[in-house]
Amino acid sequence: MAFVVQKFGGTSLADADRIRNVARRVVETHRAGNNVVVVVSAMGKSTDGLIELATQISDTPHPREMDMLLTAGERISMALVAMAIEAHDVPAVSFTGSQAGILTTADHGRAEILDIRAFRVRECLDEGKVAIVAGFQGVSPDSKDVTTLGRGGSDATAVALAAALGASVCEIYTDVDGVFTADPRVVPSARKLDEVTFTEMLELANAGAGVLMARSVEFGIRYNIPIHVRSSFHDGEGTWVKEETMEEPIIRGVAHDESEAKLTVKGVPDRPGVAAAVFEPMGDAGVNIDMIVQNVSSEGITDISFTVPEAQAATAVAVAQSVAADIDATGVDLDTDISKITVVGAGMKSESGVAASMFRILSDAGVNIEMISTSTIRISCVVRGDDTQAAVEALHRGLIGDAS
Ligand code: ADP
Ligand code: ASP
Ligand code: MG
Repeated sequence: MAFVVQKFGGTSLADADRIRNVARRVVETHRAGNNVVVVVSAMGKSTDGLIELATQISDTPHPREMDMLLTAGERISMALVAMAIEAHDVPAVSFTGSQAGILTTADHGRAEILDIRAFRVRECLDEGKVAIVAGFQGVSPDSKDVTTLGRGGSDATAVALAAALGASVCEIYTDVDGVFTADPRVVPSARKLDEVTFTEMLELANAGAGVLMARSVEFGIRYNIPIHVRSSFHDGEGTWVKEETMEEPIIRGVAHDESEAKLTVKGVPDRPGVAAAVFEPMGDAGVNIDMIVQNVSSEGITDISFTVPEAQAATAVAVAQSVAADIDATGVDLDTDISKITVVGAGMKSESGVAASMFRILSDAGVNIEMISTSTIRISCVVRGDDTQAAVEALHRGLIGDAS
């Protein structure tokens, strides 16, 4: 008997009709003789709604209570999906993350899955029922509290569960037809990819391609679970994220990320140890640093710029100000109006000149580059936030080619 995990995102569960549609798909898969585990997100944009509600109550909501609140979203959809499946006379049981045995670290809002003890889910399947699991949540065995995995976390729940249960595939049903060469909402001429390698997908996801949470791709890599990203609105094939691939194009896709901010520590004395003095306390404060640029020093004084998630900007500024005072730097600047544009492709490994082409295309489009970073299969540039659309379109046209 094949074993399938099917994950449905918020748009796919936005109202009663769509929930009925999801149930119909699940029932079809079940009736075809498969063991089905369904992972659900919260309905529509209800997670955003809950966050908004919390900010109306408190500027600094307690992380434990925030997770208590947000996990309610997935609890609503799991129960409704179970009811919709039962309406087809197929037995279905819903489980919270905790009931499904999803054990996580105690870091509220960004917990990591440590282990999955899916006894109840297995029992449910052994009894011939469909199991529905609330995505995005777990429980910490240390604190005994419910946790959330970070935005988009249902993808991680789904792939991790697929690994824990030994499923042959993890299907991610969403509101687009698959993984595209760029966000189809920004580049309407972007093309759906038939395949993308795990490592390319990981780079794209880390660079802001929100169609899959990066952590879900990491689980796919670690346990070699093929991920099929597909539309919840029709039966057509989507994109296979997997190990082997027929061809390795130089550029597979373009991604953008507007969720980072740039900090500059100005007038830093250029002497050994200053970079450590800036970044060690950032690490201690849990700030995730992405790109770093240190300017050429002039008369022994330099600037250090780096990017952090916008959500951590306030913490990062506080840390930077205290460090600046310690090392006699002149000040700290925060710039939230930036955007990171990334091109990804496994074929880049063996091709020279890709960076130069990228810089030429951005320059021809009148886009100024503020920071650059590269890996073997990725090049990222920080540009002005207002230039996002122009930069992504120009790079897509110049490096991938628009669909005809
Ligand atoms: P879900 O609620 O199903 O998890 P998400 O909103 O998290 O859906 O992810 C799907 C969205 O990801 C799409 O609507 C699309 O705008 C966005 N997206 C960003 N980059 C890409 C890409 N390269 N390919 C497809 N979709 C992308
Ligand atoms: N509902 C959560 C979110 O909006 C998790 C998810 O959709 O994957 O981030
Ligand atoms: Mg998502």
